Amino acid sequence: MPARPSLKRVPRATFLGRAIAGNLGALIVGVKYFIDPNRITLLYPHEYIKLRQGYRGYIVLIFDKCISCASCARICPARAMKMVTMEVKDKKLNRAMKKKYPVINYNRCIFCGYCVDVCPTEALYHVPYHDLVYLNMQDMILNVEEFQKEPEFVTAKEGVPVTYVFDEKRGLVKVSVEESSNQGSSSQPAGGGGSS
Ligand code: SF4
Ligand code: SF4
Repeated sequence: MPARPSLKRVPRATFLGRAIAGNLGALIVGVKYFIDPNRITLLYPHEYIKLRQGYRGYIVLIFDKCISCASCARICPARAMKMVTMEVKDKKLNRAMKKKYPVINYNRCIFCGYCVDVCPTEALYHVPYHDLVYLNMQDMILNVEEFQKEPEFVTAKEGVPVTYVFDEKRGLVKVSVEESSNQGSSSQPAGGGGSS
């Protein structure tokens, strides 16, 4: 019969010991990332991510291009867009008539961009913002007039535009957009659709 190995009993850490070790570990990780020269935390609103052209951000309606086909509202998977009836003056017929135009509810929109893609007259386009702040839920439901305006009070515009690039030695690195364009092709923008 083979000899049985003797098992050593590992001393159990006390609750106090575990708490001290856990907190010390967390503090060390915090300090390490705080002084890391490659820190990638976005210091919003002092910095903001410059989104690429064509990024699926907020949507704006070009009223004169809309032909009231309702394709945008029909395709919307989140039921964020719907058609509302408005009285407009028909320039050709020179008389008032009722037509339908889309409005959007940003409480529901998932920024999929289907409505923009499906529009046959390019009456909808994206603007490169996806994190606007509203004071209440009601303000997120735009009427036809509001839907035609690009966002004006964008806090992010006041900060420094930054982007994330992938560097072979340092990994993911945050750089200002100006620095990124000076570097030219030496670094590749990271990710699929976040920054330019
Ligand atoms: S982006 Fe998508 S979810 Fe938002 S309104 Fe358009 S189709 Fe609907
Ligand atoms: S798909 Fe375009 S043209 Fe048709 S209703 Fe929507 S915005 Fe207007």
